[in-house]
Amino acid sequence: MKKSVEEVWANCLSVIKDNVSLQSFKTWFEPIKPVRLKSNVLTIQVPSQFFYEWLEEHYIELLRKTIRKEIGNDAKLEYSIVMENNYKSNNPYTVKIPTSNKGSLKNPSVNMPLDISNNPIKNPFIIPGLRKISVESNLNPNYSFENFVEGDCNRLARSAGFAVANKPGGTAFNPLLIYGGSGFGKTHLAHAIGIEVKKKHPNKTVLYVGSEKFTHQFIDAVKNNDTNDFIHFYQMIDVLIIDDVHFFAGKEKTQDVFFHVFNHLHQTGKQIILTSDKPPVELQGMEQRLLSRFKWGLSADLQAPGLETRIAILEKKMYNDGIELPSEVAEYLAYSITANIRELEGALTSLIAQSTLNKKPVTIDLARKMIDKFVKNTAKEVSIDYIQKVVCDYFDMPIELMKSKTRKREVVQARQIAMYFAKKMTKSSLASIGMTCGGKDHATVLHACRTVNNLAETDKSFRVYLEELDKKLSVQ
Ligand code: ADP
Ligand code: MG
Repeated sequence: MKKSVEEVWANCLSVIKDNVSLQSFKTWFEPIKPVRLKSNVLTIQVPSQFFYEWLEEHYIELLRKTIRKEIGNDAKLEYSIVMENNYKSNNPYTVKIPTSNKGSLKNPSVNMPLDISNNPIKNPFIIPGLRKISVESNLNPNYSFENFVEGDCNRLARSAGFAVANKPGGTAFNPLLIYGGSGFGKTHLAHAIGIEVKKKHPNKTVLYVGSEKFTHQFIDAVKNNDTNDFIHFYQMIDVLIIDDVHFFAGKEKTQDVFFHVFNHLHQTGKQIILTSDKPPVELQGMEQRLLSRFKWGLSADLQAPGLETRIAILEKKMYNDGIELPSEVAEYLAYSITANIRELEGALTSLIAQSTLNKKPVTIDLARKMIDKFVKNTAKEVSIDYIQKVVCDYFDMPIELMKSKTRKREVVQARQIAMYFAKKMTKSSLASIGMTCGGKDHATVLHACRTVNNLAETDKSFRVYLEELDKKLSVQ
């Protein structure tokens, strides 16, 4: 009895499975659909042109042997290729292509340096040499691990990045996807990993590229008909860093080509590092198969830096740039600018610029005026952190004590004053004010505000405290 095409293909698959890695099998063979077996021609459907080329290039010998074993010596293979006819196509059409036999003669170009005499490379990253190709890494030496301050906000991502840099392609973190809000240090960390790889493994080819640039290069490659060069170029990289992959959203062709680059690199043990403004589950407009690959390795997030980290970052930056600021000014900046590190650095830079231009010393007053202009929405608003700090300094009390549960009279009073100013000067809710002032609830905050108002009316020295603190806190 004749076997059905499904049965024949299932037998082929079981042979193939024993001859390729599990990863390759899943990537290149599982997606294949057996279509038809007529006379001795087996037709298989593959998801794209690239897929077909890949099979022809890498697996044709294996395929041929297996099929002959199943169908007989005169067996032939035919591909049915699903073509995308436009971006939003619901009805992909297929083309049929017979196996070419060329594959077995070709070099496995992936691991070979490109032969630039036959194949002039137009990729802007490549500076053709005699036979060697040197790839510009695009790494910014300032964005090193040494300059990347460690904090609670980045611990996991940082240490995973470091592990990857020590053993690119050799950890479970492949790809390593770093995600987090704007200005949280994704780009910096991505460069740091690349720089560290170059330090530990100088022979590895590292490439940093923004997703936007990758997309534009791809569009150019399509226009110039050299998509293959483009793909080969990227497949040659040992450590590929792609920044801001969320930019690929909705760009199906770019995602498609990136998918293939990704598969190749992953399969050959190369390291992929990605950054994104969202975790994979929240990335919209991305193909499922890409998203599922993003999740293969590790997704590590960067959070908004806490106060201590903000101060440490400012100090490091000042140290690196040889800037000296009165510590109250640096602290004021770190206390007031909470949104992200880019803003914090921006504020520092414009403060220095202003003081140099106007030949004025950097004072806390100048800092306040500048921040007033610099920080958009929160301009007029001091932060709760800052209020707590000023109140604690005023009463000469460690800030931890104020945030603790202690019910000592002086501490309770300082805490109530901090709550009072937080209510008066910020838009924070009573609940969140309570949270940050020793884990109290909103009723406690209300009670604190009343107590402070009452005391201000009845106790003269208390009123003086309040007035002095008000002056210290008010933005002029
Ligand atoms: P993102 O790519 O997440 O938007 P960036 O990596 O561009 O953020 O970071 C913004 C700025 O903040 C950069 O100048 C960077 O050097 C600095 N920065 C971010 N995180 C840190 C850190 N942990 N230590 C030191 N500087 C940092
Ligand atoms: Mg960035």
